[in-house]
Amino acid sequence: MKVRTRVAPSPTGDPHVGTAYMALFCLAFARQHGGQFILRIEDTDAARSTPESEQQILDSLRWLGLDWDEGPDVEGPFGPYRQSERVAQGLYQQYSDQLIENGHAFKCYCTSERLDEMRKAQTEKGEFAKYDGQCIHLSAADHAEHLKSETPFVVRMVIPTQGTCIVKDKLRDDIEIDWSQIDMQVLLKSDGNPTYHLAVVVDDHLMEITHIIRGEEWINSAPKHILLHQYLGWDMPELVHMPLLRNPDKSKLSKRKNPTSILFYQRMGFLPEAVLNYLGMLGWSMPDGEEKFSFQEMVDSFDIDRISLGAPVFDVDKLTWLNGRWLRESLSDDEFADRLVDWAYNRENLLKVIPLIRERVDVFTELAGKASFLLEGMPELTEADLQIKNLEPEDVLKILQFALWKSEALRTWERDLLNDLFMQLAEQMDRKVRDVLAPIFVAIAGSPVSPPLFDSMAILGPDMCRARLRHSINILGGVGKKKMKKLEKEFNALGR
Ligand code: GLU
Repeated sequence: MKVRTRVAPSPTGDPHVGTAYMALFCLAFARQHGGQFILRIEDTDAARSTPESEQQILDSLRWLGLDWDEGPDVEGPFGPYRQSERVAQGLYQQYSDQLIENGHAFKCYCTSERLDEMRKAQTEKGEFAKYDGQCIHLSAADHAEHLKSETPFVVRMVIPTQGTCIVKDKLRDDIEIDWSQIDMQVLLKSDGNPTYHLAVVVDDHLMEITHIIRGEEWINSAPKHILLHQYLGWDMPELVHMPLLRNPDKSKLSKRKNPTSILFYQRMGFLPEAVLNYLGMLGWSMPDGEEKFSFQEMVDSFDIDRISLGAPVFDVDKLTWLNGRWLRESLSDDEFADRLVDWAYNRENLLKVIPLIRERVDVFTELAGKASFLLEGMPELTEADLQIKNLEPEDVLKILQFALWKSEALRTWERDLLNDLFMQLAEQMDRKVRDVLAPIFVAIAGSPVSPPLFDSMAILGPDMCRARLRHSINILGGVGKKKMKKLEKEFNALGR
């Protein structure tokens, strides 16, 4: 059998290490079998998907060496590989129509108010909240009436009312899920866009995917996908649900506790080989137990059945240790120098830094000290460094958290936009600009005196700046759940 695997990220944010993790196992498995690895962009959430995010996903997977055989930027026989383009071709609509025709799906005209009430009543009664099936029973005349009055509708799939679905997963015993626990999933939204569930089934089939390797958060959706395959008369690909990556405290990997953007690791000066090696160690190990291995070595001894389902912890300290081994053991001095230059010690980067520094030095020897914060990772700070004149510790924490949220919402990372963003924050918080900027300054530059803040932030880039803001928040003891809720409320009340 010709193996074809795919990774299917949604371009709605930073390129996530979880995406690279899936891509690595998809690629290793495909390569082991001389098969193909496909990159598909799941951008049917038009409001949240952005071209910048897609580009960052492509760039960061490429940086890691996770090259795809077919994808949005590589011609292939099963394109287009971007779902928005597939929507434009009417690909999903056609299967939605077919499902309706065969009685496997139906148009649902229920308003969101009705659905909210229905779910509320179900939850109050302690029932599983799901669609009650009202529109399944509409007559042809009812549908004609709605068509005439152009009532907005979604298309939902029909789900058996009883029995169980058996989900077969390569890494697990059979999983039984009662159909009563499955909602009549919306397949086509009222704007004509498919939901993930319809799109993933149609695309995996048309792209001849043989093995679906994805995160275990999708196990509960598998019955819907299995049923859709049956309805459409298609063979179900094999399922491989990978364990979820965890924070060191075992909660689901989250950017609040760990940097999750691949670009952060690139910016921090990790080697792509080491990051890949580390991702490969999560949930898998070499038969001889050796922790340091290259991608090719992983492929040579890969065995999908040896993936372990124990919750793999993404531990930056361990990754750092492994990166050190790669630096010491696998790079010649020549290669070390080349990598360093590629990373940041290059002319292009210097030309960004020099305009900020040249006013502040008289001889070259002063340069390293003044510019060091632009080349370092997390600044060395203590709680005392974050004690700021005119501000209570609570206020410092709040300003840093608000600055972080503001910066997370910023799509284009430019000096002037950063300037506007933080001026706006000061105004919204009804505080002096100087007071609001002071803690941000320390968090970013590591000291209260340094080159202009927004220019520095522009050079450092979004991932490093957000990580430094988070770093300072953590130095101040972090924000607990309860406090976070309170701050979120206050932040949302600031307006946009
Ligand atoms: N777009 C989904 C995600 O981001 C893809 C899940 C899948 O691989 O089926 O997780």
